[in-house]
Amino acid sequence: MAQIIAVANQKGGVGKTTTAINLAASLAAAEQRTLLVDLDPQANASSGVGLDRETLESTTYHALLGEAKASAILCNTPLDCLQILPATADLIGAEIELVSEPDRETRLRSALQEISNDYKYIVIDCPPSLGLLTINALTAADSVLVPLQCEYYAMEGLSQLIKTIRLIQRQLNPELTLRGILLTMFDRRNNLSHQVSEEIRRHFNNRVFDTVIPRNVRLSEAPSHGLPVLLYDIASTGAAAYLSLAKEIISAGN
Ligand code: ATP
Ligand code: MG
Repeated sequence: MAQIIAVANQKGGVGKTTTAINLAASLAAAEQRTLLVDLDPQANASSGVGLDRETLESTTYHALLGEAKASAILCNTPLDCLQILPATADLIGAEIELVSEPDRETRLRSALQEISNDYKYIVIDCPPSLGLLTINALTAADSVLVPLQCEYYAMEGLSQLIKTIRLIQRQLNPELTLRGILLTMFDRRNNLSHQVSEEIRRHFNNRVFDTVIPRNVRLSEAPSHGLPVLLYDIASTGAAAYLSLAKEIISAGN
């Protein structure tokens, strides 16, 4: 069975998609068979690994609604060991269409069961909300990885996220764990970055990944080329950081 990691934070623009793409690619580069799941109607993870959203026929929307099997919507990526379940803007409709379904929270978990044995890791990119899509991700996942941007108000909303995780643990997925908090967009020349990082480590100490993701322009350029950063510029600090994160996760062994 794959280890399923949901990358979640309801705050927008904190580095969820950048982390989902580049963690998944780095795990794949370490020859771990990995599946990236795009669960955000913005579909940035799909375009970020080179898919043309215009040409996709079946997506995570169809998998959630039971209209397509996960195995039928898998797409290849530029990396051999990495595949993706892609999304398009259609996914926005799933939140509404599923609202009256009795098993609405477990749709993703059920969809992934069919293919879970084919992978070592499944990394889910969540949208910036705590709505039904994120609830599906947290219900399907073994653990949640929370990216936090090193800026003022970084921890704003975190208590709401932790409350949601506890609720899911109680009602839908007792196995769910907080895998860790990942500090993103760290700027070592900026005092604020250091202050925020220290404060978060004080609060969450052993729950914070040793790896810190630096602010790095290559990370923001890579998606417009449809490539994970390690294929765009392997020598960049961003590529090194995500390879180090993958190593940390692999060596944790779960
Ligand atoms: P949303 O909540 O909208 O889904 P998100 O949490 O997925 O956003 P990203 O899309 O990963 O966040 O990142 C937001 C923006 O910041 C993007 O333009 C991305 O390229 C840029 N970015 C992310 N991480 C870094 C980094 N470490 N260095 C520089 N730019 C970054
Ligand atoms: Mg995103």
